[in-house]
Amino acid sequence: MKLELARVVQGCRLGVLTGLGRAGQHSLEVPGCLLYTRCGSVPHLTQDTLHTLSNLPSVTQLTLSTLAEHQEVLEEFNEGVRKFAGLHDTVLYCSLHDPATLSPTGHITNKTVSVWGSGGRIELSVDKFMALQKAVQPDLYQSMADGETWPSNTSRKRVRKSVDRTLAHLDECLLLHHKTQELKGVEVLGVVEGGDVMEERVRSARETAKRPVGGFCLDGLQSAAMGQNLRTQLITAVIKELPEDKPRLLQGVGRPDQVLSCVEAGVDLFESFFPYQVTERGCALTFTFNITTDPETSGTGVQAAPTVLKLDEDKPEVNIVENDGPDHLPEDQSSMTPFEINLKDKRFRDDFGPLVEGCGCYCCKNHQRAYLHHLLVTNELLAGVLLMLHNTAHYCAFFSALRGAIASNRLEHLKERVLKGSGMVLVREGAGLTDGQ
Ligand SMILES: [Zn+2]
Repeated sequence: MKLELARVVQGCRLGVLTGLGRAGQHSLEVPGCLLYTRCGSVPHLTQDTLHTLSNLPSVTQLTLSTLAEHQEVLEEFNEGVRKFAGLHDTVLYCSLHDPATLSPTGHITNKTVSVWGSGGRIELSVDKFMALQKAVQPDLYQSMADGETWPSNTSRKRVRKSVDRTLAHLDECLLLHHKTQELKGVEVLGVVEGGDVMEERVRSARETAKRPVGGFCLDGLQSAAMGQNLRTQLITAVIKELPEDKPRLLQGVGRPDQVLSCVEAGVDLFESFFPYQVTERGCALTFTFNITTDPETSGTGVQAAPTVLKLDEDKPEVNIVENDGPDHLPEDQSSMTPFEINLKDKRFRDDFGPLVEGCGCYCCKNHQRAYLHHLLVTNELLAGVLLMLHNTAHYCAFFSALRGAIASNRLEHLKERVLKGSGMVLVREGAGLTDGQ
């Protein structure tokens, strides 16, 4: 696995992660996202339905929390989750927790971490964690980590302990990893912890970077209580300690405005649980990100259609400010963000336009907002299928537009589109953004 950077603009790294997969035949463009799954499948979608979408991420995310309770079955099957879940040709990345689910706290010891499956808590020692990796057979995986620093008021002592434990886990995982023949050629991502304590963040990054890891997971920065300013400061400090040629994956952050800020701070990869959360609350992503004025040459992204603009006017104005404070919406599944519309709303009952004009997904090409409204209010399962298809397509296209904007020096234009188009005001250095069009 190798990260080849094409350019760095305003802190944003544009490049390609090559040599992915055991045979090294896959690549992934950065900044980019992984494909979110539960137990190997994208929620609501069969493999065939999913693959009606083009430009899907080449890396699929599995989580141990959804796989740990199937350890015996996977060991008996002995051919890995790729075959077990009938996945297409894809790179498999295995993380510890499910980013869309908040785990209960208080179950971590010096020797174990806990994950929660449908049957309850499963305690993992390093031995059990590594036995699971052997059964799952991913191409890369996150090392075992103590990431329990996100609740507010976590003490400095607890944060220090999380860094110490995570480094100890990493050393033990690496030791077993190198002894395990079945994990030959598999990459390990080291986890950077440190909560909101700057010195601990820097120490965690510096020490992790000394180990033979393929890349880095930045954990514990997803707290809703953590404002984007603090998140950016911590990420910026962490990144200074990390080698340039290895990827940095940020866990638990998925909102488009936060993604943009974190990419500017030097993050390469994100998990794509956000479209799933939007789908689960019956909403559709409609934020605009197209920065090409000529549709003939647009290539990626969707058009800023009149229907979308009309809806934005209807929205209550939401001021997202880049400071720390309670204004930030908690990132749970029940909270709508300014990047989406709620299709259960009565105003969509007779709206015969697509979710997003110009979107090439199956849902937008074949169905209207009014039909989605009908499916949702009558609790039809097809609603989740169609929304998940569109939301996944829209989110992946956003990352594609982001890479295009970095490549063409139009990042400010993209940010303005995304934030202002969603009725948000970006407050930066005392000045709001001005109209660019
Ligand atoms: Zn669509």
